[in-house]
Amino acid sequence: MKYPKLREVKEAIISLFTKPYTTKYPAGEFKPFAGFRGKPVVDEDNCVGCETCANVCPPNAITNEDDKETGIRTITRDYGQCVFCGQCEEHCITGKGVKLSDEIYDLACFDRNDIVEKQERDLLICDNCGAIITTKDHMRFIHEKLGPLAYSSIMNLNILNERLKLAGTGDTSVKIRDELKRKDSFNVLCPNCNRQVQVKNLK
Ligand code: SF4
Ligand code: SF4
Repeated sequence: MKYPKLREVKEAIISLFTKPYTTKYPAGEFKPFAGFRGKPVVDEDNCVGCETCANVCPPNAITNEDDKETGIRTITRDYGQCVFCGQCEEHCITGKGVKLSDEIYDLACFDRNDIVEKQERDLLICDNCGAIITTKDHMRFIHEKLGPLAYSSIMNLNILNERLKLAGTGDTSVKIRDELKRKDSFNVLCPNCNRQVQVKNLK
């Protein structure tokens, strides 16, 4: 027969008089500790649908699908695949788009679809070639961040146009005919088409 070592006997005696480290959850209440990383919670007002969190999510729990026909980006967050690493929160470009809750920890469910969330954002699509540039909210965020400096780029004439439309002063975009010309700068153009306008104007 193998007898327990003195150290093991000591640990057994100590454990008789100390509180358990584990909780009886779900029978008993579980109180998350400080810095607990629970469910990532999206703030709809501060998420601009930029794709950054999808690019840094290690298990690909966040995916995007762009539909040119409807002009909608659908962001899908599958918490059944989430490993609660916090990369999405750390790299969020607005700093407030997603935060890991320190209270929501119970994601157990019978149907995995119950822990899948979807968001939709309007896409910004090039008027000339139809390429997807980003989302409108993302472009607005960049513009607000840059302030007046935003107008140093021809790209932002598109936003000026959007603002004029919002202010009710009219649409400055001109229908693109045949090939790109200088006046087409006031349309929504992707960087590639913008470059074409610029290069033509240099000639
Ligand atoms: S916490 Fe980590 S695994 Fe979960 S969604 Fe964010 S980046 Fe992905
Ligand atoms: S990085 Fe932030 S703003 Fe961009 S899609 Fe993710 S949560 Fe939204």
